[in-house]
Amino acid sequence: MILFELFPAYTASAAIVAFALSLLVGSFLNVIIYRLPVMMEREWQEAVQSANQPDVTPDTSTFNLAHPRSRCQECGHLIRWFENIPVVSWLFLKGKCSQCGTSISTRYPLIEFFSACVGGFIGWQFGFTTLGLALLVFTWALIALTFIDIDHQLLPDAITLPLLWLGLLLNSFELITTLEDAVWGAMLGYLSLWSVYWLFKLATGKEGMGFGDFKLLAAIGAWGGVLTLPMTILFSSVAGVLFAMVMMAIGKQQANNPMPFGPYLAIAGWCAILWGGPILSWYL
Ligand SMILES: [Zn+2]
Repeated sequence: MILFELFPAYTASAAIVAFALSLLVGSFLNVIIYRLPVMMEREWQEAVQSANQPDVTPDTSTFNLAHPRSRCQECGHLIRWFENIPVVSWLFLKGKCSQCGTSISTRYPLIEFFSACVGGFIGWQFGFTTLGLALLVFTWALIALTFIDIDHQLLPDAITLPLLWLGLLLNSFELITTLEDAVWGAMLGYLSLWSVYWLFKLATGKEGMGFGDFKLLAAIGAWGGVLTLPMTILFSSVAGVLFAMVMMAIGKQQANNPMPFGPYLAIAGWCAILWGGPILSWYL
């Protein structure tokens, strides 16, 4: 059920709006990708310190998604608003800090541009619809999770759990699938990887994946329903194994080193929901 369709015919304008919006959000995703794991680390350290060494005062200076304001990591130069325009500022500054000339990672504009392109695609496919807006939010969350997992081998609950609840909420209006299908999707998504984890652990004594992976697959199931799960698991496993084999072949990855599974789940789940599940009938 589509809640509203403003101008379903003007998908080109929807693509442009979604592109621009995702460019701005991409800039915020960079902040989340960098700061959320630091915030979790600080919380964790505070907890450990208060349990073990009550006399040691932890670093309590404010650090969240908004404070302190972004600075050059080299010289401390405060990033002004016009130096913070997605992609444009980076190009204008030629990828360097305006104060000290230290180069700024190409990763920031690339994540912004990537978010904008994927967002633009969603706008083009789904127009100004509730489904289009919902899928944009879904896509942005997956982008943040992917890069946090690549950096830290971590999928924060602060993103996976709200994503799961949002999927159930939207499907209580049957946005993508029925609520019953969504609930089963969330449950089986969690339990399937949870079972694999325990079987692997009992058989080898090692941990093959993290609890964040179960929660991410549960969220994907909550959005797309049960039918998206087999496809997501199949695609992500095949892609993960192929990538690991390539990396091992070129000597960049040891067989025993852990590698993040979240990015494969995110990409496979995104494709499964767009092309493999109930949305397919929406296209046709
Ligand atoms: Zn600087």
